[in-house]
Amino acid sequence: MTTTEPSIFSRIVAREIPADVVFESDAVIAFRDIAPQAPVHVLVVPKTEEYRDVTELAANDPALLAELVATAQRIASDLADGHFRLVFNTGERAGQTVFHVHAHVLAGGLEEASLG
Ligand code: 5GP
Repeated sequence: MTTTEPSIFSRIVAREIPADVVFESDAVIAFRDIAPQAPVHVLVVPKTEEYRDVTELAANDPALLAELVATAQRIASDLADGHFRLVFNTGERAGQTVFHVHAHVLAGGLEEASLG
Protein backbone atom coordinates (compact mmCIF):
# COMPACT_ATOMS: atom_id res chain seq x y z
CA MET A 1 0.00 0.00 0.00
CA THR A 2 1.29 3.44 -0.85
CA THR A 3 0.54 6.42 1.30
CA THR A 4 0.87 10.01 0.18
CA GLU A 5 1.68 12.76 2.60
CA PRO A 6 -0.70 15.73 2.52
CA SER A 7 0.78 18.71 0.71
CA ILE A 8 2.01 21.69 2.71
CA PHE A 9 -1.07 23.56 1.49
CA SER A 10 -3.43 20.80 2.69
CA ARG A 11 -1.77 21.15 6.09
CA ILE A 12 -2.56 24.88 5.99
CA VAL A 13 -6.21 24.08 5.05
CA ALA A 14 -6.34 21.71 8.05
CA ARG A 15 -4.79 24.40 10.29
CA GLU A 16 -1.94 22.03 11.12
CA ILE A 17 0.51 24.78 10.23
CA PRO A 18 -0.18 28.49 10.58
CA ALA A 19 -0.75 30.90 7.71
CA ASP A 20 -1.96 34.46 7.27
CA VAL A 21 -5.32 33.59 5.70
CA VAL A 22 -6.96 36.49 3.86
CA PHE A 23 -9.96 34.70 2.32
CA GLU A 24 -11.66 31.33 2.56
CA SER A 25 -14.70 29.71 0.92
CA ASP A 26 -15.97 26.12 0.82
CA ALA A 27 -13.66 25.37 -2.11
CA VAL A 28 -10.63 27.68 -1.88
CA ILE A 29 -8.29 29.24 0.66
CA ALA A 30 -6.05 32.27 0.15
CA PHE A 31 -3.08 33.18 2.34
CA ARG A 32 0.01 35.37 2.15
CA ASP A 33 3.11 33.77 0.64
CA ILE A 34 5.80 33.13 3.25
CA ALA A 35 8.43 34.68 0.92
CA PRO A 36 6.64 37.62 -0.74
CA GLN A 37 7.84 38.79 -4.16
CA ALA A 38 5.56 41.86 -4.29
CA PRO A 39 3.87 44.22 -1.80
CA VAL A 40 0.83 41.93 -1.99
CA HIS A 41 1.70 38.28 -2.66
CA VAL A 42 -1.12 35.87 -1.91
CA LEU A 43 -1.51 32.22 -2.88
CA VAL A 44 -5.01 31.11 -3.91
CA VAL A 45 -5.36 27.36 -3.50
CA PRO A 46 -8.20 24.88 -4.03
CA LYS A 47 -8.82 22.99 -0.80
CA THR A 48 -8.66 19.74 -2.73
CA GLU A 49 -5.15 18.65 -3.64
CA GLU A 50 -6.22 16.30 -6.43
CA TYR A 51 -4.90 18.62 -9.17
CA ARG A 52 -1.14 19.08 -9.31
CA ASP A 53 -1.11 22.05 -11.68
CA VAL A 54 -3.33 24.47 -13.58
CA THR A 55 -3.53 22.27 -16.69
CA GLU A 56 -5.05 19.41 -14.66
CA LEU A 57 -7.40 21.82 -12.92
CA ALA A 58 -8.57 23.42 -16.18
CA ALA A 59 -9.17 20.03 -17.81
CA ASN A 60 -11.11 18.56 -14.88
CA ASP A 61 -12.82 21.39 -13.02
CA PRO A 62 -13.03 24.64 -15.00
CA ALA A 63 -15.58 26.06 -12.55
CA LEU A 64 -13.05 25.72 -9.74
CA LEU A 65 -10.42 27.42 -11.91
CA ALA A 66 -12.89 30.25 -12.49
CA GLU A 67 -13.38 30.53 -8.73
CA LEU A 68 -9.60 30.87 -8.27
CA VAL A 69 -9.54 33.73 -10.79
CA ALA A 70 -12.53 35.46 -9.15
CA THR A 71 -10.85 35.08 -5.75
CA ALA A 72 -7.67 36.64 -7.14
CA GLN A 73 -9.67 39.63 -8.37
CA ARG A 74 -11.36 40.02 -5.00
CA ILE A 75 -8.02 39.89 -3.14
CA ALA A 76 -6.44 42.46 -5.46
CA SER A 77 -9.40 44.77 -4.84
CA ASP A 78 -9.43 44.20 -1.07
CA LEU A 79 -5.66 44.44 -0.48
CA ALA A 80 -4.45 46.65 -3.37
CA ASP A 81 -5.86 48.77 -6.20
CA GLY A 82 -7.61 45.97 -8.08
CA HIS A 83 -4.77 45.45 -10.57
CA PHE A 84 -2.91 42.18 -10.32
CA ARG A 85 -0.63 39.64 -11.93
CA LEU A 86 -1.72 35.99 -11.81
CA VAL A 87 1.05 33.38 -12.04
CA PHE A 88 0.75 29.59 -12.21
CA ASN A 89 4.20 28.03 -12.16
CA THR A 90 3.70 24.77 -14.03
CA GLY A 91 6.43 22.14 -13.80
CA GLU A 92 9.71 21.96 -11.92
CA ARG A 93 11.73 23.76 -14.58
CA ALA A 94 9.23 26.64 -14.46
CA GLY A 95 9.84 27.00 -10.73
CA GLN A 96 6.93 24.96 -9.37
CA THR A 97 7.87 23.57 -5.96
CA VAL A 98 4.48 22.63 -4.50
CA PHE A 99 2.48 20.17 -6.62
CA HIS A 100 -0.92 21.20 -5.31
CA VAL A 101 -2.23 23.72 -7.81
CA HIS A 102 -2.04 27.33 -6.66
CA ALA A 103 -2.25 30.80 -8.17
CA HIS A 104 0.22 33.49 -7.14
CA VAL A 105 -1.61 36.83 -6.90
CA LEU A 106 0.92 39.67 -7.13
CA ALA A 107 -0.30 43.22 -6.65
CA GLY A 108 0.56 46.62 -5.29
CA GLY A 109 2.70 48.84 -7.51
CA LEU A 110 3.96 46.44 -10.17
CA GLU A 111 4.30 48.99 -12.98
CA GLU A 112 8.10 48.76 -12.87
CA ALA A 113 8.33 45.00 -12.37
CA SER A 114 9.33 42.93 -15.38
CA LEU A 115 7.98 39.47 -16.08
CA GLY A 116 9.85 36.60 -14.47
P1 5GP B 1 5.62 27.47 -6.46
O1 5GP B 1 7.12 27.63 -6.40
O2 5GP B 1 5.25 26.02 -6.31
O3 5GP B 1 4.96 28.14 -7.61
O4 5GP B 1 5.06 28.26 -5.20
C1 5GP B 1 5.11 27.78 -3.91
C2 5GP B 1 5.04 28.98 -3.00
O5 5GP B 1 4.67 28.55 -1.72
C3 5GP B 1 6.36 29.73 -2.85
O6 5GP B 1 6.19 31.07 -3.29
C4 5GP B 1 6.67 29.63 -1.36
O7 5GP B 1 7.24 30.82 -0.84
C5 5GP B 1 5.31 29.35 -0.77
N1 5GP B 1 5.34 28.56 0.45
C6 5GP B 1 6.02 27.40 0.65
N2 5GP B 1 5.80 26.93 1.89
C7 5GP B 1 4.94 27.81 2.48
C8 5GP B 1 4.34 27.87 3.78
O8 5GP B 1 4.54 27.01 4.64
N3 5GP B 1 3.53 28.92 4.04
C9 5GP B 1 3.28 29.90 3.11
N4 5GP B 1 2.46 30.88 3.47
N5 5GP B 1 3.83 29.88 1.88
C10 5GP B 1 4.66 28.84 1.57
